[in-house]
Amino acid sequence: MNEETEEITTRAHWQGLPVVAIAGRPNVGKSTLFNRLLHSRRAIVDPTPGVTRDPLEAEWLPDGAEKPVMLVDTGGLKLERDDMDDLVAAKTWERVASADLVLFLLDAVDITPEDEEFAAKLRRYASKTVVVVNKADSPERDARAWSHASWGYKDMVFVSAEHGRNIGELEELIVSRLKWTNAVSVSDEHDDIRVAIMGKPNVGKSTLLNRLLGAERSIVSDMPGTTRDVIEGRFVWKGRTFTVLDTAGMRRKAKVTENIEYYSVNRTIKTIDRADVVILMIDAVEGLSDQDKKIVKLATDKGRAVVFALNKWDMMPRIKNTFEATKDKMQFFFAQMAYAPILSLSAKDGDGVDTLLKTVVDLFVQLHTKIETSRLNRAVHDWIEASPPPASPRARFKVRYAVQTGINPVSFAVFATRPELVGESYRSYLKNQIRADLGFKNVPIELELKASRKRFEDLEK
Ligand code: GDP
Repeated sequence: MNEETEEITTRAHWQGLPVVAIAGRPNVGKSTLFNRLLHSRRAIVDPTPGVTRDPLEAEWLPDGAEKPVMLVDTGGLKLERDDMDDLVAAKTWERVASADLVLFLLDAVDITPEDEEFAAKLRRYASKTVVVVNKADSPERDARAWSHASWGYKDMVFVSAEHGRNIGELEELIVSRLKWTNAVSVSDEHDDIRVAIMGKPNVGKSTLLNRLLGAERSIVSDMPGTTRDVIEGRFVWKGRTFTVLDTAGMRRKAKVTENIEYYSVNRTIKTIDRADVVILMIDAVEGLSDQDKKIVKLATDKGRAVVFALNKWDMMPRIKNTFEATKDKMQFFFAQMAYAPILSLSAKDGDGVDTLLKTVVDLFVQLHTKIETSRLNRAVHDWIEASPPPASPRARFKVRYAVQTGINPVSFAVFATRPELVGESYRSYLKNQIRADLGFKNVPIELELKASRKRFEDLEK
């Protein structure tokens, strides 16, 4: 499974975000700036590479903003061009035309006639253009670029995308120039609970499915999905609609032989992508398989909730504490996932099915929990007081404030001075606190650390 496919298929969170386009001739450092602004490897939504030279874009939360912006790297922009480039260029100029803010990037050491042409072409967008002089590694270099202030652009910032100089100033400027009036969250909201039933062959997936669809008011099995995917069926339980998505291995059941690759990796990824909750069925007698571990990783990396269902529980020896012992073993195995619910089930007899569905509903609710920024920050404040970041004289950081950046998948951004110093253990501490105190007990959360010099109190003014 390749890393990239895992990274790029995240759900969109917003519509109508203000668009910030980075434009300029080749080699001025557009993609370096793009990456510098996104800062951490994990953007809220990872960049989606289109056709090779299409613009790259990503949702990005600048320091001091409560909602993200759509950051676009108009990599394809070139003045000299062939036919193919023409198309690309037309697309990119469209992007520039429709952007809310254009960062016109220059190279402090090398300002060329091509830059001047760009400046001329961009003039009609002057009111929404900011000149960003890159590779300005030192104030001396700033001086050289000042001569271009005559191009008539109001705002000019000197940065070093590579070394991070003045990036904070640039972020501040960006935030001050944008409005979020049209931004609405559209994180693929739906009322039906989308479930993927996964697990190795013969673990009991079909048995469970039949039982679920046999339940109260089931609607056709084997129906085409409303959007892109095949779904196995829908049913209603206690007033909630559940959609069971295409389940790996289920369909080709008839042709099963021992060595078949049951899980087409792409198909599994796609299904997980569309699911809210993954029910991972595990044979209680046989225990975990390697495939199970891969599925769990895929699902949690994408922020999907996972529930472990130990099926064929009816076959387990009736001795005291069997369940506790099995649960302990599982939690030992999935140490980072001790938060995920583990249940016993007999798909055949129906024991545990109600508890399973109740758990799925609960997970769905957790995935959709929204915490107000003020409440979150009061909590953050308390956590830091209870357990301050480890301080050594050289390596000190302060946690400034936090915002919830998404539901389903649940994500948070924590702003700190020098986020690079925040170690894995403090990060886990914060995650665990968010989980324990704010209603995300059993679901994965993504926590992004970002640089900030601002305090929460300053932001509230
Ligand atoms: P799938 O390949 O995951 O879809 O597995 P099936 O649903 O076809 O089940 C495989 C076998 O396990 C069948 O013979 C089922 O009757 C049996 N089975 C499924 N669930 C249970 C259970 O909870 N208890 C017991 N004892 N057998 C079960």
